[in-house]
Amino acid sequence: MLDNLDQSIIKNLNRSRILRAFREKEIIQKKELVDSLNLSITTVTTNTRRLLEEGLIEETGIAESTGGRKPVVFKFIKSAKVSFGVDLSPHQATIIMTNLASEIIDRSKFSIDKQSMEEVLLNIQTIVETLLDKHGYLKADCLGIGLSLPGIVDCENIMLVNAPNLKVKNYSFRYFEATIGLKVYIENEANVAAFAELIIGAAEKLDDAVYISITDGVGCGIIANHKVTKGTFNKAGEFGHMRISDKEIICSCGRTGCWEIFSSERALLKFYTEQSGDIVTDLEAFFKIYHEGNLLAKVALRKYLDYLLIGIENIMLGLDPEVIILGGEIVNFLREIEPIVEDYMKKNHSDILSRDNKLVLSTISPYSAVVGSSLLPMKEMFGY
Ligand SMILES: [Zn+2]
Repeated sequence: MLDNLDQSIIKNLNRSRILRAFREKEIIQKKELVDSLNLSITTVTTNTRRLLEEGLIEETGIAESTGGRKPVVFKFIKSAKVSFGVDLSPHQATIIMTNLASEIIDRSKFSIDKQSMEEVLLNIQTIVETLLDKHGYLKADCLGIGLSLPGIVDCENIMLVNAPNLKVKNYSFRYFEATIGLKVYIENEANVAAFAELIIGAAEKLDDAVYISITDGVGCGIIANHKVTKGTFNKAGEFGHMRISDKEIICSCGRTGCWEIFSSERALLKFYTEQSGDIVTDLEAFFKIYHEGNLLAKVALRKYLDYLLIGIENIMLGLDPEVIILGGEIVNFLREIEPIVEDYMKKNHSDILSRDNKLVLSTISPYSAVVGSSLLPMKEMFGY
């Protein structure tokens, strides 16, 4: 006999599964839910009645009968609720407002250079309230705000424990949550990007994968048994700070020789400057020079890929994932030269590695983190 707690868990589980089916398919008949989710008619009827009352689904007509009473067709009201995702990178805050199907309704971004965390949060609050108003939503219609942060986080206590790239330590978002009057969720940038890959991206059908986020730093999100795994102290996946060199170059974490010194966006630009003496400030400028056939740019990219591969091989050796997903803005430039990168990676692959571990470029980059953060407030509803 199931006790009350078990029964309530199962009830919530059934509700989430039905909601996930609606999110995936939008228009569904009751019988399809019974068959595809292996649920009883009573369970489906109780849940659909409740979802109708809550305004999350609506009846959208009658389907053709295959004998007997004509079945009612339900439609998911994906605009019933909204969610916000915020990606806080060292220089920029990117904000998206999505509906329940993760379709982006609106977006905004601003530079956070020279701003304190309080100023950044005040800006976010203004943007969130403006966007809700603009699209005719009340705060009650909003599931919350998810924040993607470049550092170690304590999700339960919504605390940013340490973010060297933001120069922030032990920052609690409780006051922000109270001021804005919306539930706030936080997650590490690479973990939340891996989460997005798991729900709607390259890892949707995978059990084991590693997402490598290449930005100003390098972070990784580990997917094991189709879940993002975070370790005992929420530090899993900090491969950006594994030491791969004895060069005395200081990392943002205070140590030397970390992988991210050699494989972040900045590293590629720095390699080019070292080769040519010319300063390029962003990836767009670098790849423009590369595509013009500049030999020094080619040398710099090769050096960069060499270092990138060292870390990738270490991760493959340690975790043996089905797929390694590369993410970040750089991916959009690498995509243009994908065959070259693929060829290079294969040629330099050591024999100790399994040939079956695949390396892919994220299809939702550079938006994985912000999309993932907008999914955080929906976690409970859809049971992710
Ligand atoms: Zn480091």
